[in-house]
Amino acid sequence: MNKKQLFIGQSEKKAFDLKHRETIRFNISKYDAAFEAGKQRYQRLEAAKKSASEIKRYAIRNLTSMLETFEKSAAQNGIEVLWAKDAKNAVEHLKRIAIESNVKKVVKSKSMTTEEINFNEEFEKLGIESVETDLGEFIVQMAGEKPYHILTPAMHKSRKDVAELFNRLFGTPENASTNELAAYARQHLRRDFEDAGMGVTGANFLLANEGGIAVTENEGNGLFALAFPKVHVAIAGIEKIIPSLNDLNVIWTLLACHGTGQQVSVYNSAIFAPRSEYETNGPERMIVILLDNGRSNLYAKPVQSEALICIRCGACLNSCPVYKNIGGHTYNTVYSGPIGSVIMPHLGNFKELNHLSFACSLCGICYANCPVKINLPKLLLENRREAVENFCRPLSERIIFSGMLWMLGSSKRLDMVNGSVKTFFSNLLSNKIYGKRRASQKFAKQSFRKQWVKSEKFATDKR
Ligand code: SF4
Repeated sequence: MNKKQLFIGQSEKKAFDLKHRETIRFNISKYDAAFEAGKQRYQRLEAAKKSASEIKRYAIRNLTSMLETFEKSAAQNGIEVLWAKDAKNAVEHLKRIAIESNVKKVVKSKSMTTEEINFNEEFEKLGIESVETDLGEFIVQMAGEKPYHILTPAMHKSRKDVAELFNRLFGTPENASTNELAAYARQHLRRDFEDAGMGVTGANFLLANEGGIAVTENEGNGLFALAFPKVHVAIAGIEKIIPSLNDLNVIWTLLACHGTGQQVSVYNSAIFAPRSEYETNGPERMIVILLDNGRSNLYAKPVQSEALICIRCGACLNSCPVYKNIGGHTYNTVYSGPIGSVIMPHLGNFKELNHLSFACSLCGICYANCPVKINLPKLLLENRREAVENFCRPLSERIIFSGMLWMLGSSKRLDMVNGSVKTFFSNLLSNKIYGKRRASQKFAKQSFRKQWVKSEKFATDKR
């Protein structure tokens, strides 16, 4: 089964999974209310979005020089900067660092770039334990699953699901409350922070001028992961670059508002160096890995490269009617929802993943909600154009659309057949293209034009 067939099969199943629907509806309704309240705090939301969008667009236009500036400034601060062209290369760096520092256990904060490189699985092969410390990530790791959402990895789980999971694994009360579950995880993870030899985090932003990284989180686990162990490694996609720390005043608040509806996230940290000889806390060694992993392919696309300005807030996923129905796991990709459907075909194999760009009704709500004003529907259409031009679509679809174009291009041709024939063929093709769930259509016996001519003739005869 190829990835497209898998996607269609799982979508069909998930869309009719009522428990999934109920959980997502409940969790997203909480997000919707917080997001609406968050937006109200802005006097000039559009101006803030425009400003953030321009900062990110400027950074991506000057990507090469910005990354070079970052590398230079970071090195001056005592941070080691490594480049990784792909996942394999990033894993090689990480394994070497772990072996050099005799690491037996790693604590991780939430990071989608580490999902891209399959960090946990790769370290498991080395015999090094990797512990997820973000509560949502911890839950999905314990459940043996992948993150469901780029910001809220366990969004598909209800409190009851988590209580059952923890009860089975750790013996906590069967009906534990949210607070009890969080308290258990906090206590459980505290030991891991103390034992770990290496902390791995992502970086929400790379600060070019200052040579530092910015990390946003709500639980404090990121701070523990980067400060407790002797070695801190941050893995960041090259598109995370922004010119300077000053730009965060607008970006940090927009990220909080669009991600969770907060005025500001609970922990916003900017880290510029490993521990100095005068400090008692912090890692002895700090390394930043700049990951390409297909981003250069996206950068080379004049239209779709706009997606590189994404700040991974998740608002487009939360508002997408397709995502809300089929869920995050159905995409079978690291990034899902509208932004995932745009970027994954370029970060991965375009032939295998272009079908994701067709799973969209082009309603435009993602564009309206994006804090950096990425025109996602336009980028999805561009991916579709590329897929058609590069013969990535099935031959049957090409034949059907060519036939429809020929037929619909002339009202005379359309009038050659009556309503029953049109109804038969239209439903046959609709089933083939859109599946059996689309309501069938019924054409009038005669076309509007024929009926009009007939009524005019009738009126003239009468006169
Ligand atoms: S595309 Fe926009 S809305 Fe979607 S995750 Fe990125 S920044 Fe957020």
